[in-house]
Amino acid sequence: MKKRLTLLGSTGSIGDSTLDVVARHPERFSVYALTAHRNGDKLVDQCLRFQPEAAVVGDAATAQQVAGKLRAAGCKTEVLHGPQALVDVSKSDGCDTVVAAIVGAAGLAPSLAAARAGKRILLANKEALVMSGAIFMDAAHDNGAILLPVDSEHNAIFQCLPREAALHGGVSKIILTASGGPFRTREPASLVDVTPEQACKHPNWVMGRKISVDSATMMNKGLEVIEAHWLFGLAGDRIDVLIHPQSVIHSMVSYADGSVLAQLGNPDMRTPIAHALAFPERVDSGVAPLDLAQIATLSFEKPDYTRFPCLALAMKALAAGGVASAALNAANEIAVDAFLSRRIGFTAIAQVVDAVLNALPNRDASSLDDVLEADAAARRTAASMIDTLPALA
Ligand code: NAD
Ligand code: MG
Repeated sequence: MKKRLTLLGSTGSIGDSTLDVVARHPERFSVYALTAHRNGDKLVDQCLRFQPEAAVVGDAATAQQVAGKLRAAGCKTEVLHGPQALVDVSKSDGCDTVVAAIVGAAGLAPSLAAARAGKRILLANKEALVMSGAIFMDAAHDNGAILLPVDSEHNAIFQCLPREAALHGGVSKIILTASGGPFRTREPASLVDVTPEQACKHPNWVMGRKISVDSATMMNKGLEVIEAHWLFGLAGDRIDVLIHPQSVIHSMVSYADGSVLAQLGNPDMRTPIAHALAFPERVDSGVAPLDLAQIATLSFEKPDYTRFPCLALAMKALAAGGVASAALNAANEIAVDAFLSRRIGFTAIAQVVDAVLNALPNRDASSLDDVLEADAAARRTAASMIDTLPALA
């Protein structure tokens, strides 16, 4: 039976890679719904190619434009808009698999809806798990949803862990690898002047702008430590970060007997996406075979928490528990947006996140409302700090 997909965030970088893999296997996958935020023209092209039953955009005006173009081309895709439509296509009986590839907190509601509807979820949207890890994992567990990590590190760990949960007792540590991003060796004092263009130029991966900046600050690795904690149930002190500039080893699992299992591959998201799409089978992803003789050298070093304060802030938020991770994520989203629109400097991102975490009291994350309130409070606080403290820039 073909898998029927809802692809949340189809116009993004993960969306592109997913559709590339899907197009290679028309006998295995069909597309039920595609969603975009503002990029209506790209969504039109994708709808013409994949003929989904539904397409979702952010607002009514874009929906009208997209619907007009699709009708003119004879395409029968129904065009919807707004956050509720994202939830509807995620829990619909029309799909069995949801690829969660919206960036940021906007992905939480539809991803959670997919978990509650017991779907097979391919999770790229790490922010959803960072915000509401316990609630999300409980929803998936209680409703029989299958969670398959797409983030390359987590997909690697998933591949290196024993299949049966009963055997996880032999796992001593998870080792998350990190490239170190574009500023791994740059003089720390000069980081204050880097531009959004420099920050978005990742040495190994081509990604959306927000995750590219997160990689440059290493907040991305911090979010991934939190993501790994929830996905694999290990405490923060059993999740190590290791700098590995070549991005060939995508992560490792260390066992009690001294064995360390690693997953290797070229840095191309189509590998973890194809793995999760076809799991437990293996299919062609279009990724070139790994040529280790040509790469020749794999190197490793410890992370530098002084150069990358965001990594330490994320680990602190995980240790604090409660809504601290949600507040960290929200403050980071606001600060990264301000950096990308040149309202604050690069090093101010960590300063804003730190100041927000210090300003807001932590509390239990017992319900989704607790999480959403913390998210909103952190966004307000971060925005007013950015507005009123130009000295941060
Ligand atoms: P991107 O910016 O390229 O794409 C984001 C997608 O989300 C787009 O389709 C956009 O239309 C949609 N979107 C943005 N804001 C939205 C909103 N408010 N409502 C609805 N839709 C919205 O991002 P990306 O690089 O593809 O990353 C997507 C997610 O995958 C992120 O959570 C990122 O951390 C994660 N991820 C990405 C990569 C990668 O290589 N790009 C790797 C690992 C994890
Ligand atoms: Mg990753």
